Amino acid sequence: MRLAEIDGKALLRRHGIAVPRGVLLEAGDATPAEAGDWPGHVLKAQVLEGGRGKRGLVRRLADASALSAARRHITDALGDPEAPLLLEEAVAIAREVYLAVRIDGTRQGLELLVAAEGGEEVESTKALIRIALGGTGDVGPDALYPELVGLFPPNLAARLARYAARLPEIARVEDLELLEINPLALTPDGRLIACDAKVIRDDSAAFRHDSDEFPLSRSLAERAMTPLERSARELGFQLVEIDGDVALVTAGAGLGMMMMDLLADHGLTAACFMDNLRGAPDETMAERLRIARMIAERPQVRAIVFQTVLASRSLADRMDALLAWVAAEPLPKPLFVGIAAGHAAARKMSAEAALAKLGAAGIAAFTDPVALVRAVADTIADKRRS
Ligand code: GDP
Ligand code: MN
Repeated sequence: MRLAEIDGKALLRRHGIAVPRGVLLEAGDATPAEAGDWPGHVLKAQVLEGGRGKRGLVRRLADASALSAARRHITDALGDPEAPLLLEEAVAIAREVYLAVRIDGTRQGLELLVAAEGGEEVESTKALIRIALGGTGDVGPDALYPELVGLFPPNLAARLARYAARLPEIARVEDLELLEINPLALTPDGRLIACDAKVIRDDSAAFRHDSDEFPLSRSLAERAMTPLERSARELGFQLVEIDGDVALVTAGAGLGMMMMDLLADHGLTAACFMDNLRGAPDETMAERLRIARMIAERPQVRAIVFQTVLASRSLADRMDALLAWVAAEPLPKPLFVGIAAGHAAARKMSAEAALAKLGAAGIAAFTDPVALVRAVADTIADKRRS
């Protein structure tokens, strides 16, 4: 779950991290009186995507009277007059630093990311350093200082080492996949203030936290969902719609990612990503195929790919269900089926027999996912030529 900036900052504040004073402005809210005392004001769209600065969604106000114009500017840019906004005290910034803690999936441990020049251009800086942390993520300032002193003057490096050493514990206690502070502002009077926060909590740890927490983030995520994504959730799986040319039916995040990478290697993009919501025991093939058919109706979608990996569920049963789905109604786009079946799954029918059965029904089927994707690419290229 990705938190809106204001929620991410509330999380940081309860762990003693300094953030600017701020208030949420919802549609129709008047300027709150408390904001009158602030030395300056910044108005920020609360959307769950980054890069707001570059999109004109973060606006520095010349004075408090500029608020309503800035507000309109942002809601117009978003095309949403109801969009919630964060009105914040403007912080004077002498230097912007990038600091993040995240899970390094390969190492299965926490790591710290640091860039000496934070801010909007951080993606283009090559100076992002990665510091691997031990198993628990615990790290002392003394261990971080030598890594930072090459990037910052000694005094600032020492302060940042103490600051950064507090973040892994917050990430662990709050079950975060990512805790990113960019920019971490160094003010002219030497304070460190988190001016932006990108916080992502691991959904599988949601049960450890208050489910009513962060209603704004929840409603933003809800609003960002498409109608098909909502129906998929009701049917028991997760769907992400993408602008792409292949309706991709998979289950399990790893398989989905692998197929998306293979498609990309062949110049194709998936039109959707599917994953189980409740883990492997749930069988949602029929529901996933039903949604895939709807996605395949979109004119820009050129093919349907169904890649199935079976460990213990019967391949024979799955092929029967697939053929029944194909026979029920003409498919809007050509179907390509990929099959991998373990020993138990293939007891009644081998993968080769399944290929033959699908072939007899006029369906292109493969045991090698690379061959499958190549065939999809060739078919689409042929169609484009003709
Ligand atoms: P993002 O573009 O979505 O990451 O939004 P940010 O919250 O990071 O804002 C973009 C940029 O606006 C930052 O990199 C800062 O340079 C600037 N900014 C944000 N808040 C403040 C502030 O309080 N004071 C000043 N001077 N600049 C700010
Ligand atoms: Mn930012």
